[in-house]
Amino acid sequence: MLVVVVGPMFAGKTTELIRRVERQVIAGRRAIVFKPSLDARYDASKVAAHNGLKFDAYVVPPDETGVEAIYKLGFEYDVVAVDEIQFFPPSLAEVLDALASHRVVIAAGLNLDFRGEPFETTMRAMAYADKVVSLTAVCKTCGRPATRTQRLIDGRPAPRDSPRILIGGGETYEARCRRHHLVPK
Ligand SMILES: [Zn+2]
Repeated sequence: MLVVVVGPMFAGKTTELIRRVERQVIAGRRAIVFKPSLDARYDASKVAAHNGLKFDAYVVPPDETGVEAIYKLGFEYDVVAVDEIQFFPPSLAEVLDALASHRVVIAAGLNLDFRGEPFETTMRAMAYADKVVSLTAVCKTCGRPATRTQRLIDGRPAPRDSPRILIGGGETYEARCRRHHLVPK
């Protein structure tokens, strides 16, 4: 069983992933959650607990060694969750598909980059999914459902040619609807 949770930033994807993991933990299933190591918002604690529920949490590099670690470690658990899947190489999708034959697999990530173009890894994972949960945020401009992530540099929309992945730069992000999502040339 493979569930893929997608949407823009600020849509609650990680909250939804953890909610689904906790339901399994309550039922006595052993769960592990993987996160890519470049995501500095999280700590690298090995055991995470929320509401008194415990599950193992691993930070792995978002490359082929990380994908291999997810495959090997994943088989030791009943439930395998991977957050921020867009940072991993597309081969992660085949690993999620393989694990899903015998495990409950929950993956979450951005489906579109700041330009509004699909992330390959998320796209592939969605293709293998038994269920896709598509979440929306709220447009910062108009308050309607937001499906896009707006990147701002010094408060202005980032141009199309800025790098796809920026970590720890001076940029900020907002959720926007299709109409208010701006990508200048
Ligand atoms: Zn809007």
